Parts: sequence; C-alpha cells; structure tokens
Amino acid sequence: MIILKIGGSIITEKSSDEPKVNYEQLDRITTEIAEAYKKMDKKLIILHGAGSYGHPIVKRTGIHMGISNNKQLVDFAETQRLQNELNTIVTGELIKKGVPAIPVQASATAIMKNGKLISMDTSVIKGFVDIGLVPVLYGVPAYDSEQKCSILSGDQIAPFLAKNLGADSIIHATDVDGIFTANPKEDKNAKLIEKITNENLTQVKNYLSGSSHTDVTSGMLGKVMELANIAKEGTKCVILNGLKQGRIKNALLGKQVTGTVVEF
Ligand code: ADP
Repeated sequence: MIILKIGGSIITEKSSDEPKVNYEQLDRITTEIAEAYKKMDKKLIILHGAGSYGHPIVKRTGIHMGISNNKQLVDFAETQRLQNELNTIVTGELIKKGVPAIPVQASATAIMKNGKLISMDTSVIKGFVDIGLVPVLYGVPAYDSEQKCSILSGDQIAPFLAKNLGADSIIHATDVDGIFTANPKEDKNAKLIEKITNENLTQVKNYLSGSSHTDVTSGMLGKVMELANIAKEGTKCVILNGLKQGRIKNALLGKQVTGTVVEF
C-alpha cells in the first residue's frame, strides 16, 4: 500500500487569505495520479492538506490552540465545512479521471489529546481499500479531549495510517524538491538533503528548527519528525516536489525521483 500526501501548498494558492484552489496544478496532479493508478499493482490512500482553505481561518480564529468561547465552536464547524468543500473538489477531479476516490472525514472518529492523534477508527478505511476504493482523507479540525479542538493534519494522519494499515511507503508531495539545509525559498545556497537517516537526523532537525512556525501545523519539521518515526518501523518515506511534472506519477510507479528519502 502507498500513502500519498498532497500538500495544501500545491493544490491551493497557499498565500491567499481567502480559500482558493490552484485548478491548474490540481488538474495536472490528479491526471498524474490517475495515470499511475491505472498501472499500479499496489493499493492507494490519498491525503491532502488545506492550504488557503485551512490556515487563514485557523490562524484568525485560534481554534488550533483550543476552544474557549461559543463563537469558536462556530469557527470549528465552519473550518470543517471548508475542508469538506476542498475535499469535494479534489475527489471530484479524481473521480472524473476514473479513480474511485472516496471522501473520508478523519475527524468523524479521531480523538486528539493536546494536538496529538490518540485514536482513529481505521477499519472502514481498510475495508474501502480492500474492496478497491481509494480513500481520500484531509487535514481537519478535530475533537480534542483536553482543549476541545486541535488540528489533525494530513502529516499526522499519514504515519498513523501507515502504522495501523501497514503501508510500504509514504510519498509527500510539497512545493520544494525535498528537505534542504535551509529554507530553499529564502536561501539560494540551501542544498538538497537526499537522504535522512539515523546519522544525520539531529543535524536535519537543527536545519529545520526555524521553519516550525510556518503554519498552524508544524511545517517541514513536523513532517520530518513524523516520517522519521514511521521510517523506523520499516515504511519508506520520500518528500518530493509535486509541482514538477512527472514526479508524483513516477514515485507512485516506484521509480526513483529527485527528493529526500527518509530511511532508517
Ligand atoms: P505542504 O503545504 O506542502 O504540506 P508546508 O507549507 O507545511 O508544506 O511546508 C513546505 C514549506 O516548508 C516549503 O514551501 C519551504 O519553503 C518550507 N521550508 C522551510 N525550511 C525548509 C527546509 N529546510 N527544507 C525544505 N523546505 C523548507
């Protein structure tokens, strides 16, 4: 089984204050997925991020830090509704291209504790995969037993599913070529780290420590920490640039592509 996470940064206009889909990229990416899917001999689960459908409203309302008034309950509900809207658009594109993409709202069964995913029912997801569907989950605001609400990101869902359903690999498609020695959008001298292993993990954490507050989830540092944990259990993880033609498709087909491999 392969788990593909599509970053909110590549399917939405991430810097927009209003929810805005990047239809051009979404069309190309869903075409690549559909083309690969027809040739793949593996099962597939897709996750997508929220980009401008999630980060602006969450930052504005503060619901990722918990709920302290009734107004925030409305914000919680509206944030979820917006994610469903984006998911309807993403699954709509996949279905149009022949992928049996079935929407799955993780927050219907997920329980968080201080921002960490504690439990989530994966039996239906497994059943969907077994009968040949492609579940499509997405980052959501979720019930939190301590702070009432926190954000369950696609980055957290991916390793949870990999662990519970036994995925062979996790592919993270984002808007840069992989993990660099510094933020490649700010530092021209940043170098791509082709492999993250036990030997350089601490150093990589240092490279990324400044990037943890890029959004309301944990940005690249959060991704790498989650992937390192799951890689230790034998799942191969790769972070690649989903904006570059062919990389998602080739990675789904098991071909080697430019990116960062996390392997322990
Ligand atoms: P997504 O929305 O695709 O899940 P994020 O926005 O959470 O992705 O993280 C991707 C961003 O992380 C990139 O656009 C990049 O600018 C930033 N970033 C910061 N530091 C680094 C680094 N050392 N290597 C790679 N990307 C980095």
